[in-house]
Amino acid sequence: MQGDVGARGRFGPRALLVLFAAVATSLVARPTAAQTLRLDATTSDLASLARAVTGDLAQVEPIVPPAADPEAFEPRPSDLAKLKGAAVVVRVGLGYDHWLEKLLQKHGDAAVHRGGVGYVDASAGIPLLELKGRSLDATGRDGHAHGLANPHYWLDPANAEVMTGGIAEAVIRVAPELTEKIIANRDEFLTRLKARLAEWERLLAPHRAARLVAYHNTWPYFARRFRLDIVDVIEVKEGVSPSPARLAKLAALIREQKVRVILHEPFEPEDASQLLARRTGAVVLKLAPSVGSLPEATDYLALFDYNVAVLARALSAPSN
Ligand SMILES: [Zn+2]
Repeated sequence: MQGDVGARGRFGPRALLVLFAAVATSLVARPTAAQTLRLDATTSDLASLARAVTGDLAQVEPIVPPAADPEAFEPRPSDLAKLKGAAVVVRVGLGYDHWLEKLLQKHGDAAVHRGGVGYVDASAGIPLLELKGRSLDATGRDGHAHGLANPHYWLDPANAEVMTGGIAEAVIRVAPELTEKIIANRDEFLTRLKARLAEWERLLAPHRAARLVAYHNTWPYFARRFRLDIVDVIEVKEGVSPSPARLAKLAALIREQKVRVILHEPFEPEDASQLLARRTGAVVLKLAPSVGSLPEATDYLALFDYNVAVLARALSAPSN
């Protein structure tokens, strides 16, 4: 074929056809390359936001299984395999997914290491709560230390604007040909988010300053956004059950402050919350701290649809 084209001259009809075929092939090849663009996110929440940004242009995988507690997660060798071929890695940061360091050390591709074009610490640019003012011990094994600041910032839906911005920038860095589509996807997501946020705020507006107790210190960003008041947290230290003295103190606080709802998470032990509920008449309400942690939380927006609806309902119920 090559010789044939040469013999007929560079711009003969046959050569043009070959040239056209080559261009067509490259045009076809591009979307194929884009489809195999792989994003790994440490959590299901970041994976959901990454899907909103990339749509069908990339394959997105969470590293922590949706129903597991990311703060108690221990990566296995099979998780290393997940990182292979990922062009972008998105993490929560702030020590929440400290185990990613170990995986990245074993992973050769510098592009997804800290500072690489495909590395996204989604906490960058987020106004953080509970800042500790000390540097994070990245080698620390205690994933629940809430090192630099409280890491549960994805539970303020307004933070998704910054988070999706960081993800979009990284995807554009590794696949600049997708720029327009990525920007359009993110804009479309932010439009939907804005409309839903207005609705969530409307549903929780009658419960402004409602006092709540939470099992784990998961909800400060959620509470600030929706003007709720978390007066105390049952779990003082991860994995340590509250002492009888602490439970008695919490029960007194719940009565005094007229707390009617105890926020609980699907993977936390329930004994202490249920005991306090029995003692005080407050109800234990299971919320989804992450996408996939409850069946209703199918994606990032559905998580808030569910949490806001059940919380508004519980706070509207006549007190007993
Ligand atoms: Zn936590």
